[in-house]
Amino acid sequence: MRILIVGTGYVGTTTGLIFCEMGHQVTGLDVDEQKLKALHAGKLHFYEPGLEELLSKHVQAGNILFTNNTNKAIKKNDVIFICVGTPKQEDGSADLTYVKNVAQSIGKHMKEYKVVVTKSTVPVGTAQLVTEWIKSCQKEPIPFDVVSNPEFLREGSALYDALNPDRIVIGTTSKKARGIMRELYQGFQCPIIETNPKSSELIKYAANSFLAMKISYINELARLCDRLGINVDDVSQGIGLDQRIGPHFLKAGMGYGGSCFPKDVNALLQTANANGIPLTILERVVQVNAEQSLYLLDKIKQGLGSNLAGKTVAVLGLSFKANTDDTRESPSLVLIDHLLKERANIKMHDPIVKLEEGTTGLPIGPHCQQLQTVAETVSGTDAVILCTDWDEYKQLDWMAIQLLMKQPYIFDGRNMVDKAVVEALGFHYTGFANH
Ligand code: NAD
Repeated sequence: MRILIVGTGYVGTTTGLIFCEMGHQVTGLDVDEQKLKALHAGKLHFYEPGLEELLSKHVQAGNILFTNNTNKAIKKNDVIFICVGTPKQEDGSADLTYVKNVAQSIGKHMKEYKVVVTKSTVPVGTAQLVTEWIKSCQKEPIPFDVVSNPEFLREGSALYDALNPDRIVIGTTSKKARGIMRELYQGFQCPIIETNPKSSELIKYAANSFLAMKISYINELARLCDRLGINVDDVSQGIGLDQRIGPHFLKAGMGYGGSCFPKDVNALLQTANANGIPLTILERVVQVNAEQSLYLLDKIKQGLGSNLAGKTVAVLGLSFKANTDDTRESPSLVLIDHLLKERANIKMHDPIVKLEEGTTGLPIGPHCQQLQTVAETVSGTDAVILCTDWDEYKQLDWMAIQLLMKQPYIFDGRNMVDKAVVEALGFHYTGFANH
């Protein structure tokens, strides 16, 4: 089958390459020339373990092509996957501008039957909107079907997740489109949920919101554990081994971030409110998450003193989690913002992320600078704050670090350091209820 992927970001590039692996011919369409240039040369424009090798393999074999020629790309392909971004608007709802642009282009350029698949995370009712947008741009009525097929991959393990999904969700009322989607996904062993577009669209939001809820639940519980002198990691393990609960997303820390959870929880809340059914549990999930970085700031003040002005802290980790270069809504950047407001000096490090001025809103300069090595970063600081759970930070030589620091304070935003080990070295250690 000839497949068009519109939007060659994290999701689009991964999805396209998975279909190459399944033996399909794939075209990647994007409006960003720089990204296309890199992809065409077999180079990823973002960091995702294992994906560049696959890209290079399929570019060399001619299984995947990249273009900005919308007209030709739409005409030539049978199945069109919309993988463009759906960012958060000010009121919390999903911005469908990019999806609308793509749908209108499809309507304008299609000359024969197409299956149009929304892989982007889109609110309930979007399949219907996409149908209307396509029709509104058609010069003559040419048949097509719209399918909702949400993506569940995680950045950092995108390739594994896309090759080994827990389930595939196909939302359509068209028998013909369902048949084509079944054929596309026939190599996968996981359960396939066939449903209507609205249910499919909601499944994605409900899944991400549920995971965010688990994180906020354990984070709020960690505050009680802190008060009672209980180790929250023991509590997580104790409840996570219950198969009805499961161990994942129960690690107390700085809260969730990234390009999906914050925007998806907000978009679902927006849908719920617009329909007069407020989801009060999720409202609290968002609040708890926002409070979490302030909770850590409070711990830092308890350690270093309430006046942080002039104190220098080393922030280790800028991406919202390990194994990705994505800093969108990263808890690390939220904390840095709080620390800057307290007039602390920030020295930052990340193994992959290179912050450029103007890209994150942080005032990069003498008071907020990124260093290349951990040693340079911690040198002369009053505290180390661990913000991202990169493997590199799990193996730090704390004895050597202590010699470089002004004061031996560790604030562990991810409960990733062995408290007993660093305390034995003389560090003042604070994590999230890991007593
Ligand atoms: P991204 O920002 O990395 O990529 C989107 C791409 O779309 C960009 O390269 C952009 O240039 C391109 N684009 C925008 N308008 C276009 C147009 N008119 N024609 C062609 N290309 C266009 O986004 P992403 O992280 O891959 O996310 C895409 C969607 O998938 C979002 O809805 C997101 O919520 C969802 N999703 C993301 C993840 C994830 O982990 N990143 C996981 C599951 C679902």
